[in-house]
Amino acid sequence: MSPTDNVMEKLVSLCKRRGFVFQSSEIYGGLGSVWDYGPLGVELKKNIKERWWRSMVQERDDVEGLDAAILMHPKVWEASGHVATFTDPLVDCKQCKNRFRADDPRLKGPPGQPDTKCPVCGNKGTLTEARRFNLMFKTFMGPVEEAAAVVFLRPETAQGIYVNYLNVLQSSRQKIPFGIAQIGKAFRNEITPGNFIFRTREFEQMEMQFFVKPGTEGQWFEFWRAERMKWLQSLGIRPERLRWHQHGKDELAHYAKDAFDIEYEFPFGWSEFEGIHNRTDFDLANHQRHSGKKLEYLDPATNERFVPYVVETSAGADRTALVVLCDAYREEEVEGEQRVVLKLHPALAPLTAAVLPLVNKDGMPELARRIYDGLRPHFHAFYDDGGSIGRRYRRQDEAGTPFGITVDGQSTQDQTVTVRDRDTLKQERVAVDRLVAYLGEKLKE
Ligand code: ATP
Repeated sequence: MSPTDNVMEKLVSLCKRRGFVFQSSEIYGGLGSVWDYGPLGVELKKNIKERWWRSMVQERDDVEGLDAAILMHPKVWEASGHVATFTDPLVDCKQCKNRFRADDPRLKGPPGQPDTKCPVCGNKGTLTEARRFNLMFKTFMGPVEEAAAVVFLRPETAQGIYVNYLNVLQSSRQKIPFGIAQIGKAFRNEITPGNFIFRTREFEQMEMQFFVKPGTEGQWFEFWRAERMKWLQSLGIRPERLRWHQHGKDELAHYAKDAFDIEYEFPFGWSEFEGIHNRTDFDLANHQRHSGKKLEYLDPATNERFVPYVVETSAGADRTALVVLCDAYREEEVEGEQRVVLKLHPALAPLTAAVLPLVNKDGMPELARRIYDGLRPHFHAFYDDGGSIGRRYRRQDEAGTPFGITVDGQSTQDQTVTVRDRDTLKQERVAVDRLVAYLGEKLKE
């Protein structure tokens, strides 16, 4: 096993142990590359999504929010090009029935003509020619399974934004340039999913489509690239683990004229988790053509009519969560002992503070309970009186809880507690009636 597998393995195991992420339907042996978020994971992901929403929608006056349905009219996916081109080339082994992407490095031989042996069963001559495989999940709408009622689970949230662009424009009274943001589930029947929550078949996207006058898209593209990088840095992601990757001509998606990925150095290597795309007027022009509805914008200043160009920022909430987890994961030696700690940004940490009575007697649990009740309206707090104080700190380190509040013998005398900082391990004495303000200030730092 390589050391990188080891880190991922340890992270997956921590995520299960502490209740971040569980395999879907685990008691039935699991469902391939589908994951469930446990009590801590749901908080982490919710915090990421809330922070994204705050910076993309609430703190701006030129972006509106939207929550479009997952199911859409099937013609949407014809117009968007997904029915024809959202495909991966596939090769099957007729012997062992395993399936591979045609560009799988284990299938040497000329592209499209895999003439080598099957990498799984080792048989020769059992691989089929490469075939295109559409990544969209199909389902049937209505009780009769007939072709007319076939619908798709959306493979990206963006199309819900395009088909609502005029509704949002008119109801919000925005003017171009303006954007529409959305967070929601997307589904792709990936051929080679894996790496935990990196590539899954059901995932969440945080997408924003910014509608601009043709000719100005270049400057908006640069603007959004800078904004997105700033946002990631505001989460405390280590800058040396982030880099840009510009798509070459052969990598560009069918809709894009220019695209930059933001990549993170995961334990399994540099990989994309967000993209900034210049989608031109590809989507709106195609929807206009397929629907027969005008999707032009009338510029009130110049009386010009045009189909806007679109600059998209597209991030995966799950991949961003994996970035945050990988970046936060540390193994350290503290006071002669090994500890595993998630150094999560305090605003992203599932729990802000753990309240811990030093021992379960002498009035300490009662005071600790009162402190816990006082914190809960303000922060996500956790009460823990199980096991030695050292073990309880270690548990909170693994959960990434930034503050440990300990009620000790002195606390019941003078109404002060110690606040332990997860990263520096420094302990400060703080008056109980100042705790809410103290933690509030720390969270703003
Ligand atoms: P990849 O090349 O990794 O398949 P992509 O280029 O197809 O990704 P986009 O279509 O640009 O990805 O999707 C935007 C974002 O959605 C990605 O940056 C990623 O964070 C997220 N995403 C896409 N596919 C998946 C998936 N199967 N599982 C989890 N997140 C995904």
